[in-house]
Amino acid sequence: MDRLLERPALRALQSSHGRQATLNAARAALEAWRTTAAASGSPFEPEAFDKTVDAALEREARAALRPVINLTGTVLHTNLGRAVMAPEAIEAVTSVMRGYSNLEFNLGRGARGDRDDHIEGLLREFTGAEAATAVNNNAAAVMLVLSALAEKKEVPVSRGELVEIGGAFRIPDIMRRAGCKLVEVGTTNRTHLRDFEEVLGPKTGMVMKVHTSNYQVQGFTAAVPPAELAALCHSRGIPFSEDLGAGTLVDLTRWGLPHEPTPAESVANGVDVVTFSGDKLLGGPQSGLIVGRKDLIARIKKCPLKRSLRLDKMTIAALEATLRLYRDPDRLSQRLPALRLLTRPHAEIKAQAMRLQPAVQQAFGNSAVVSVMDCRSQIGSGSLPVDRLESAGLSIASPTGGKRTGAFPERMAKLLRERPVPIIGRIEDGELRLDLRCLDGAETEQRFLEQLTGLMQEPAR
Ligand SMILES: *Cc1c(COP(=O)(O)O)cnc(C)c1O
Repeated sequence: MDRLLERPALRALQSSHGRQATLNAARAALEAWRTTAAASGSPFEPEAFDKTVDAALEREARAALRPVINLTGTVLHTNLGRAVMAPEAIEAVTSVMRGYSNLEFNLGRGARGDRDDHIEGLLREFTGAEAATAVNNNAAAVMLVLSALAEKKEVPVSRGELVEIGGAFRIPDIMRRAGCKLVEVGTTNRTHLRDFEEVLGPKTGMVMKVHTSNYQVQGFTAAVPPAELAALCHSRGIPFSEDLGAGTLVDLTRWGLPHEPTPAESVANGVDVVTFSGDKLLGGPQSGLIVGRKDLIARIKKCPLKRSLRLDKMTIAALEATLRLYRDPDRLSQRLPALRLLTRPHAEIKAQAMRLQPAVQQAFGNSAVVSVMDCRSQIGSGSLPVDRLESAGLSIASPTGGKRTGAFPERMAKLLRERPVPIIGRIEDGELRLDLRCLDGAETEQRFLEQLTGLMQEPAR
């Protein structure tokens, strides 16, 4: 082993990867050779050995969490990290990472401060609520609100709103975990005010409304208008909370997008506590925002769970910077990447697809037929799957034609996933489809093109 490590190729690897890592990789390669040599009697080939060690070290040196190019057509893709941050948010995060900050230090009084102070004013401004706080994600926000306001008590929820969001977020399970007793009210399709009137009593901790973000009940339906439910709760002295899920701070219809309920609307309806995500339509970092009545937010902040769910300084920095962008709604669709991607005009995406088609066709050579296609993007993150945005992109089809070329799209998808910056598309109708909605900006487009060099030559790594 010492003699092997002295070889120039391995000395070079030691200087870039360190002695220990190179030694480990060399040992593993030697072991692998011994096993195969014992079976096949193949001689030891130093060059092949060096290559194996090099490849192993390169593989290990690559970060596990790394950027990908999202061409799935889902803008807020939970598996691909949801919202892309605004440059202002990135700047704010890096500056608090580099040094100390007034995270929990009140510069005016020179005394201990509260980390929520950095975002509370902005959240109050945009929602009209009296107070605000934030935790790690919206699932945590819902859990915390339940635990703080209704532990060991009953929480009535309409049967039409007992949602599962995905990733094990199910209202009945969250209730149990928070130590609350779920009281199912009404029926799946129709719930009336009198159904709530019947169940409210001394054991009721709070009433919860859940925005059914990822499905719709259609036909013979009835739900209690939030303002009426709020009035009922208030007449009985019971807190009323609403989980909005995506919860955007602005009216999206202004940009031709489907209407999503806003926390401001909930507050105006008399909802006492509203929870929503920071990294869905809001376009910020992963976080769960809680706004509402001052006395209730104070109780929520005192709950021991709050301490274990609190935000770190990087998230607070990104969240504050993102929220600040909402001060200027006129420029929001340019400055907030999530909104910019959601509002990219079809014509612009189509022109981009036509511009890129020749380069992509060339990269695939005669292994695939690349054509410009129209398609529909999704908002993602539990927003209504029926609300689709007109988009365009490239379809990569088998040159031998036929839709039943089963393995073809998988093979192409794998090839693109194995690029230095992986490209993620979606497989549909026996083709690999690349929706270009999220390939926004010259820099992103350039990075995409760079991934195509030598596409069909290099063996899959
Ligand atoms: C997405 C969603 C959640 C969970 O939010 P996360 O930020 O993913 O934790 C909870 N409730 C509703 C209604 C949602 O849509």
